Formats: sequence, C-alpha cells, structure tokens
Amino acid sequence: MEQFNEKEKWSEIWLEALKSNKTIGFVPTMGALHQGHLELIRTAKSRCDLVVVSIFVNPTQFNNSSDFENYPNTLPTDLDHLRQENVDFVYTPSPEEIYPESPELKLYFGPLESNLEGGFRPGHFNGVGIVVSKLFHIIRPHFAFFGQKDLQQVAVIQRLVRDLSFPIELVIVPTKRESDGLAMSSRNLRLNKAERETATILFHSLIKAKKELIEGKAWFEVQKEIQADFEKNQLTKLEYFELIETASFEIQTEFNPSKKSSLVVAAYLGEIRLIDNISINF
Ligand code: AMP
Repeated sequence: MEQFNEKEKWSEIWLEALKSNKTIGFVPTMGALHQGHLELIRTAKSRCDLVVVSIFVNPTQFNNSSDFENYPNTLPTDLDHLRQENVDFVYTPSPEEIYPESPELKLYFGPLESNLEGGFRPGHFNGVGIVVSKLFHIIRPHFAFFGQKDLQQVAVIQRLVRDLSFPIELVIVPTKRESDGLAMSSRNLRLNKAERETATILFHSLIKAKKELIEGKAWFEVQKEIQADFEKNQLTKLEYFELIETASFEIQTEFNPSKKSSLVVAAYLGEIRLIDNISINF
C-alpha cells in the first residue's frame, strides 16, 4: 500500500494506471475506520483493479465546531486496516492541500438542502459537495463508493454527479450494522456504555415502523407511537423520524406502497448525534 499526501504524486500514478487500462475505485472517508468503511473497500476491491481510499476530516461540512474538534482520529489503526484489506493507495491530504484558500463557491441542492439533514445541519451539504467535487477532480476515479447509511448524502452526490457531469459511476453499499442492529459509525466511539446500549433505539424504531406500515397502520399513528417511545427514554432525544420518497427525499404524509420509500431517523445520545435509515419497499 502506498500513502500519499499530494495530488501531484497521484497524477503520476493515475497516468500509469490509465496507460495500463486499469479501473480505479475511490472510497472517500473521514477516517476512524470501522467495518462499514471496510465493506465499501471490499466492494471496491471486488469491482476495480486499483482502490484508493482518502482519509480527510473535512472542516467545511461540520456545522458544529465541537463535533469537528472531537471527531475521532485513529490514523495508525486506520492504515493497519487498509493494509490488511490490500488497499492500493491511501490519500491523506493536509487541510492546506484541499483548501489552499477557502472556497467562495456555494453549492445548492434544491429541496435536499432544506429538509432533514439539510435543515438541521445548515451548510453541511455545501461542504460535502465541495469536498467530494475536489476529491473527484484530484483522484479522477472510474467508480466511487458511498454508504447507504448516509442516505441523503447519497442523493446529494447523485445530484452532484448528474448536474456537473462527472464521468464517475456511483456504487451504493448497504449499511453495515453491529450485531444488535446499531448502524456502524465513527461517532459510536464517543458513546458511553449507557448511551451505546440505548443507541439501538434508532434501528429498533425503524424496524418497528416498517413492520407496522407494511401491516397497514396509518403513518401518522406509527410516527406518533415512535415519538412517544423516544420521549419515554431519558438518554435519547429524537430530532426527526420521517417517511420519505427515497429518490426525491420529499417528506411523505402517508405511505404509498407504489412509491419507493424509506424511513429516516436522527437522534441525540447525550452530545452525540446519530442517524440511520431503512428502505421499506425495495
Ligand atoms: P465517513 O467516514 O463517516 O464520512 O464515511 C465514509 C463513507 O462510509 C460514507 O460513504 C459513509 O456513508 C460510509 N459508511 C459509514 N458508515 C457506514 C456503515 N455503517 N455501513 C456502510 N457504509 C458506511
């Protein structure tokens, strides 16, 4: 595995790869790697000749400075994981490499911008869009791999690729979970024991709501019941629990089985904000 910090170095490697007709798969991450990231990497390995992983904690996508400052940094262990997975290249740029100056450009993703993650984290998707665009321009991969765990981010990046004509195929990888159902996340490292135990409420509420919707219960009743479940629990605070049409991310007021729909949730466990989702009918 080769680690590099400078885009000029990658340009040389990229040219060689292209000359020998190798396909390049790219997995962008913010580090603190867990099995969810490794699932993306394994999928990339199975589909591409060369895999490059980036580790960069992008300051511009954090709307909360303490979340940024406390974001876990486990670089030596991350590099060990990547070596074990036979990753070919790892890009670990400095903030100055990515942001020689702070960008003036703002990206606006339409309705995706104002609802759910967009609404609760102002500026977040602009930051994601800018950094992913920069990384796509630097790495110039054929394929890029993203997790279904961040479903609204997937919709944003699909929009980005379409609207800016990036010649990149996106591959979406299902959410990897702990054995009790909690979606793996780098932020789970910051949960204390009681919060970690309570955190399964996100997944359990998604499963319960999906079952009830499929059995024909009205969405407003299901939502009220889930909100009450969260209110009963002292250790967690629900931010949203919504039914959306998956492609547009539009919030639905009732369940229509002929529309591809998903349930999405965000909740705090103490200071830590977690998100999760499941698809209902595909
Ligand atoms: P992050 O390091 O949190 O920016 O995540 C990097 C990539 O890993 C993103 O595409 C995430 O959606 C994906 N990812 C994070 N957690 C999981 C998970 N539990 N299962 C699958 N993919 C994940």
